[in-house]
Order: sequence, then C-alpha cells, then structure tokens
Amino acid sequence: MRAAIYQGAGQPISIETIADPTPGPGEMLVRVGRCGICGSDLAMTGDGPLHLPVGRLGHEWAGEVIEVGRDVEGFRPGDRIAGLPAARCGTCDGCRTGNPLFCEHARYLVGGFGEFMVIPPVAAVRLPQSLSFTDGALIEPMTCGLHALNFAGARGGENVLVIGAGAMAMSAIFWARNLGAAQIVVLSRSAHRADVLMELGADAVLGFDEDDRARIAEKLGGHPDIVFECVGKQGMLALATEQVRPQGTVLSLGMCQHGDPVVPAFCTHKEVRLLFPRAYTIDEFEATARAFDGGRIRPEIMVGETIPLDDLPGMMAALRTGAKKTFKVHVDPSMAPKSK
Ligand SMILES: [Zn+2]
Ligand SMILES: [Zn+2]
Repeated sequence: MRAAIYQGAGQPISIETIADPTPGPGEMLVRVGRCGICGSDLAMTGDGPLHLPVGRLGHEWAGEVIEVGRDVEGFRPGDRIAGLPAARCGTCDGCRTGNPLFCEHARYLVGGFGEFMVIPPVAAVRLPQSLSFTDGALIEPMTCGLHALNFAGARGGENVLVIGAGAMAMSAIFWARNLGAAQIVVLSRSAHRADVLMELGADAVLGFDEDDRARIAEKLGGHPDIVFECVGKQGMLALATEQVRPQGTVLSLGMCQHGDPVVPAFCTHKEVRLLFPRAYTIDEFEATARAFDGGRIRPEIMVGETIPLDDLPGMMAALRTGAKKTFKVHVDPSMAPKSK
C-alpha cells in the first residue's frame, strides 16, 4: 500500500510504498475513503515548536471496513465509518471526560493519508446512510465548534463573533447556528468565502480593517457574548478580548503555536472568560454525524479540492506558506495521480 510519511521537522513529507497492514485480534482493517488536511497537520510538521511524531499522518478520515480480526464485535466488512483520532481504554480517569484524547492509555490513530489503516472498533463511529466519505471526513474538524460551545456553557440566544474563516471557524458558525445563536458575525480576510460562511449560518461577514471592526457591535446590536478565535496568529487573542462584552467568553480554537499576549488587567476589568477547549467527546462526534444526516447543510460545500496522495506533499507545502488558498482539502488515497 501507499502512504504519506512524516520524516521529522524540516523534512519534506514523502509518499512511500509500505507493507499492507493486517488486523490483529480486536482490530479491523479499513480502506480510507477521504482524509482532510488539518491546520494542525500543517503547523505540526512545519518549523513551529510543536511536532507530530515521525510516521504516518492524517486524522480526519472516513472509510470502509474491509476485514475484521478475531474478537471484533459490532462491525463487519462493508461497514462505512468515520475514525476517531485516538482509541481509549474506557476505564481511566481521563476516559471519564468522554474525550478520547485525555485517555491515560490513549492509542493515537493516524494514517488517513494512506490506502489502509488498522484500528480497534472503539475508534470507529458508524456513518449514517446519507453521508458520503467526504461528509464523514468532515465530522472530526466540525465537532470542535460543538465542544467549544458546550465547554463555554452556551445555551442559545448568544451573539457570536467568529474571527477567521477556516475549518475551525466553519465549525463554530455551523454549531452556533444549530444551537440557536442570535446573531453570528464573522471576520474573514477572504471575501470569496462569504457565501459558504453564510450558508453555514453566519448573518454577516466583515473584513479585518478598522472600519469593519467598528461595525461588529453595530451588526450584533452590542458586543458579542462569545468570541471564537479561529486564526491562530499573534494578536488575535487581544482582538478577541477587546471585542467580547464584559463577562463574555473567548474561545481559543486557533491553536497559535507561539505566545499570543493579552493584557490581564484589561481582561480582569471586563472579567473575560478565556477558554482553550480541546477536540471533543465521543458523544459530540456522534452528534455531528447526526446533524449532517439531518441535512440542514451540504457538508461538501466546505471542501475546496480533492487530490490524490501524490499531490499531498506539494499541497501541504503550498498551504503552509499561504501560496495556496482554498477551503478544506481532502485526499482520496485511491485517486490515480494526475498526469503531469
Ligand atoms: Zn484536525
Ligand atoms: Zn482511558
């Protein structure tokens, strides 16, 4: 089989032929249908301070079970699934959070940028019939906004400002709308995304300049109750704390890899709640699958391009430098390389 391999910091990602995996007891072999490129894949294989482990890549995937090992219950060949990024033990204190990434014995599962993966059933969520692999691979990133709103204790009726227009921003908009936000205003650098952001549930899309910022409170009828920071660049948390209303909540989803200063005295004066939610619980993951199945939006509007595996290293390099600007990029590992 062919798979993308991360060789370590500063090294290019390579596409290699490796041995076909075989499922052991309690494991299943899955064929990857689609896997999305995550901002964290770009940030954590670049020159930032945080790095992924050397090896296979890709955690936003959906595919089909093609073989089950001994002792696997509940799944059989032909089942269509979306994958969780980690397998949990189910019994430790971390598992009680419901978030598989906090399991003290978590087995991290990456490899969506490859033809096949071997996973335990505990890391698989069945796809509703109406969802394609493209939809299924969007469940992972799109669940982050739901978790953030639950983490913030949102109850509906809030005015929301979303800073950014990437996948985390789309997730924030989609879930804020689904959970009954009053007004949702988005700050986006790229005007061409506005129609998709509106379809996801935004009421207005503004730019980043002074005039636009001055219009945020006007559009919302006051300062926002909740601000999502979904850019991950220095200065964005300060902007978020400036915009949020007194006693409002700032949710950091941008995962900036560097210090991003806020002025504590200013934040104290407003009594800002500044929160750093991480990923989601399994219940929330399943809720996103049901929400997609409910059909309010067509999830594929968030996908800009679907590419073959061979194009992944070049695409990641271009996205990282900003030379390429597009929506979510999906890899289809079974797609033939485009002739050059
Ligand atoms: Zn991701
Ligand atoms: Zn555990």
